[in-house]
Amino acid sequence: MKRKGRIFVLSSPSGAGKTTVLKRLKKERFNIRYSVSATTRRRRSGERNGADYIFLNRAEFERRIREKRFLEWTDNFGNLYGTPKGFVEETVSKGEDIVLSIDVKGAMQVRGAYDSGALLIFLVAPNFSLLKERLSKRKTEDKRSLAKRLKVAKKELTYLNKYDYVIVNDSLVKAVSALKSILTAERHKVK
Ligand code: ADP
Ligand code: 5GP
Repeated sequence: MKRKGRIFVLSSPSGAGKTTVLKRLKKERFNIRYSVSATTRRRRSGERNGADYIFLNRAEFERRIREKRFLEWTDNFGNLYGTPKGFVEETVSKGEDIVLSIDVKGAMQVRGAYDSGALLIFLVAPNFSLLKERLSKRKTEDKRSLAKRLKVAKKELTYLNKYDYVIVNDSLVKAVSALKSILTAERHKVK
C-alpha cells in the first residue's frame, strides 16, 4: 500500500519568524508542500491572495465553516484563520508531506484529529524582548494589535510541552537548518 504523507505543524507566537523560515525553505526548494490558510484579516502590503493566504470576507469564511471545509479554524486577534481541509487531505493521500503554519489552538485541533500522525514543531524567538522588537520592526501592526499579539504570545508559550520539537530562531540560517533536519528525519517514520 502506498505510504501516506505526513502532516507537519509549525507554530510560533506571532513575530517569532514562521513566515521567514518557511520562505527560506521554499527558496531552497526543499521538497515539501505548503498549506495556504484562509483568513478574514486584511491583506498586508506584498501579500498575494492564494499564495500567502486565501483572503475571504467573514460571511464566506463562515459559510465554509458550516460546510466543514476547514481541517481546523480559530479566531485570532478578532480575525478568523483556517486550514482548507481538501488540499491537506489530497496531498497526504498522494503520499506527499505538508507543512501547516498555524497557531497553538489550531495545532491542538490537528493533534486531536491526527494524533501522532501529525508532528508538531514550535518556533520561538530567543527571548521576549527580541520577539517584541521583531514584531515592531515588521511594521505591520498598530499599537493595539501589537499589544494583543504580545499578550497572546505569553499564553502560547505555555503550550511548549505539547510539541514534539522546539526550535529557537536566533540565527535564521541555524533555525532553517534545524527545521530541515527535523523534517528529513521524521518524514521517513511511518505513522
Ligand atoms: P511570524 O510569521 O512568526 O509572525 P515573521 O516571519 O513575519 O514572523 O517574522 C517577524 C519579523 O522578524 C520579520 O520582520 C522578520 O524579518 C524578522 N525575523 C525573522 N527571523 C529572524 C531572525 N532569525 N533574526 C532576525 N529577525 C528575524
Ligand atoms: P498573521 O496575521 O500574523 O499572518 O497570523 C496570526 C496568527 O494566525 C499566527 O500565529 C498564525 O500562525 C496563525 N494562523 C495563520 N493561519 C492559520 C490557520 O489556518 N489556522 C490557525 N489556527 N492559525 C493560523
